[in-house]
Amino acid sequence: MIHEKPEGQQDKASADWKIALNQGFKDWQTLARFLELNPNSYRVPVIENFPMRIPYSFALRMKKGDINDPLLKQVLADKFELDRADNYVSDPLSEREFNPVKGALRKYHNRILLMLHPACAVHCRYCFRREYDYQAQTQSKESWSHVFNYIREHAELDEVIFSGGDPLLHNDERLSWFVAQTESIPHIKRLRIHTRIPIVLPKRVTKEFLAVFNKTHLQKIMVVHANHGNEIAADVIGAFKQLKEAGFSILNQATLLKGVNDNAEVLKALSERLFEAGVLPYYLHVLDKVKGVQHFDVDEEKAKAIHHELKAITSGYLVPKLVREIAHQKSKTWLK
Ligand SMILES: *Cc1c(COP(=O)(O)O)cnc(C)c1O
Ligand code: SF4
Repeated sequence: MIHEKPEGQQDKASADWKIALNQGFKDWQTLARFLELNPNSYRVPVIENFPMRIPYSFALRMKKGDINDPLLKQVLADKFELDRADNYVSDPLSEREFNPVKGALRKYHNRILLMLHPACAVHCRYCFRREYDYQAQTQSKESWSHVFNYIREHAELDEVIFSGGDPLLHNDERLSWFVAQTESIPHIKRLRIHTRIPIVLPKRVTKEFLAVFNKTHLQKIMVVHANHGNEIAADVIGAFKQLKEAGFSILNQATLLKGVNDNAEVLKALSERLFEAGVLPYYLHVLDKVKGVQHFDVDEEKAKAIHHELKAITSGYLVPKLVREIAHQKSKTWLK
């Protein structure tokens, strides 16, 4: 439920994040100028279905004059991406098979993932989900009712995951409706949200947003997605603090990416930054073998070696589980 607030004030906070969402960088010329890089020093391929999208606050954390900046690398397209055109895998994890009802993915026994919103606030160049037909999954309240009916009929489900794209691109009113639907099902104990927005667009965490989640009896978990310690800026830490005050446990999942975080010291720094901000490392994902992201690929043996080294230099609770997703398994697969 949304607190009663004078109309104007509520509109302003919500207008702020929507403006910020639309004001990010969308072309290399502008971004290069901002980062004090020579626009002619790098050729950015045009990827029509998944163009550049970088919120301003995320770009602010990049180092000026450094084309190899680990945050820039995550969001700047590389010519390798074009390879996906000829050897295109649209659904590497056979997700369509796990689609019991439109809008939901059910792979595991006790939890179900809802693809609440098709878009993201940032376009991460290593993302495989971009190939998913999210538009087909944008749906009306009536259509979502089928999903909630499915959950109601499956008493072994105890957790609902709001995911996407990014579920926090919905407005507060719609989120509030999703929360109300979820908490009306007696066997659901936990509400989990998978989102990158507190990292890339921390302005989204407004008082009105927090009010949507403040009152629910469900336990609340937020799984954010940061890959490098430099992503954890002051505004992000502020958003985490508010989320924790509203009762969220916050976990982080990272993806192991060549040239970004394929190094034990970098991962240790990420874990420490997160922990200082009250967030526990959860998963470190090995990238799926998909054409078009091979320039980010770290092979499994190297991934294990990095993970071993990380264990050797930091506390156990700062070591995320190294996982790979393999279709038809009962859970994510832990690599050791
Ligand atoms: C990853 C994933 C989950 C969550 O799995 P956990 O191991 O509990 O984090 C749930 N549903 C689907 C479809 C997933 O891909
Ligand atoms: S926020 Fe997540 S789903 Fe969206 S583009 Fe990035 S990695 Fe993909």
